[in-house]
Amino acid sequence: MPETLMHPVEELTEAFQAASRDAKFQAELAHLLKHFAGRPTPLFHARHLSEHLGGAQIYLKREDLLHTGAHKINNCLGQGLLAQRLGKTRLVAETGAGQHGVATATVAALLGMDCTVYMGEEDMARQAPNVFRMRLLGAEVVGVASGSKTLKDAINEGMRDWVTNVSNTHYLMGSVLGPHPYPLMVREFQRIIGQEAREQILTTTRQLPDLLVACVGGGSNSIGLFYDFIPDREVKMVGVEAGGRSLSLGEHAARFAGGRPGVLHGAYTYVLQTPDGLISNTHSVSAGLDYAAVGPEHSALFRQGRVEYCHASDEEALEAARLLARMEGIIPALEPAHALAEVVKRAPRLGREQIIMVNLSGRGDKDLGIFQQAGIL
Ligand SMILES: *Cc1c(COP(=O)(O)O)cnc(C)c1O
Repeated sequence: MPETLMHPVEELTEAFQAASRDAKFQAELAHLLKHFAGRPTPLFHARHLSEHLGGAQIYLKREDLLHTGAHKINNCLGQGLLAQRLGKTRLVAETGAGQHGVATATVAALLGMDCTVYMGEEDMARQAPNVFRMRLLGAEVVGVASGSKTLKDAINEGMRDWVTNVSNTHYLMGSVLGPHPYPLMVREFQRIIGQEAREQILTTTRQLPDLLVACVGGGSNSIGLFYDFIPDREVKMVGVEAGGRSLSLGEHAARFAGGRPGVLHGAYTYVLQTPDGLISNTHSVSAGLDYAAVGPEHSALFRQGRVEYCHASDEEALEAARLLARMEGIIPALEPAHALAEVVKRAPRLGREQIIMVNLSGRGDKDLGIFQQAGIL
């Protein structure tokens, strides 16, 4: 991290620890999660899909039903309240597809804070409706024209802004990335997914799931689902990365298939890089999975062998999205469609009494243009 950010990062660590122990903070967050965001989200038994695949029973954790359409609002509400507690009046964020930018702009509007979102110019063109949403919510959207004009460059600019305006500004990181305390803090704000899901599956089936599946971009929705099941050794977990067009460097975002340890944006973790250590470009049909590094805790879980990581291609994800739409009347975002693609492969190999729980991290409205272009209708 830049030297100038060491103090704010330490201040944030202390504030987060204090807030975690503060019953009033926790009650305020719980209130907003319930009445503003729409928690708890349902756990839905996808009977037709399970029947169609002919194996395990598939349950969907419906994060797609949350306000703003994805799990990102869980983290934004938590960090927004924390920023207020620190006396900050302004939020800065990066965004790729615009989902995190929209969730941050939403929370800024709710809490009466100023908001600036950095977005690569390439992404602004691809995700124009989300740019309008953020502006309608009162946020300033700043286009980033450097580098590949995508997420990595937007994070660079966001951090530059934070260094300059740190006295009144909180940097609201969108995933379990960046320097400590972000990976830990964002995980703690997303853990509610797994806490609810654990209780829900035990209430409905009286057994733990055999397998958890979630897509891994930065890794926040997956760690949110997995975390409370880590001590349950009998529960297998699979994280699905973006296999993109192929596994040659630059054509995918499967860090555990093609990356090696390195540092990006303040975290030591698996990074897609050239033999010389330059950060590689990445590709995925889903902007939310399109980043060269992965949350460092996933790297630890990978090394320990506790979580298995695999990847689904653009084409497999598009096909899985179409299948869920037809079978269950739910159009998923392209990110969790990668998780569904893995379920399509694994469910038939499991018995009918076994249970797979999938995190449906977001809804597909934002991806309609991509579905249309891909010609899957
Ligand atoms: C942003 C996003 C992701 C990827 O981010 P994680 O931190 O890996 O969860 C996945 N799904 C949806 C719907 C998203 O918007």
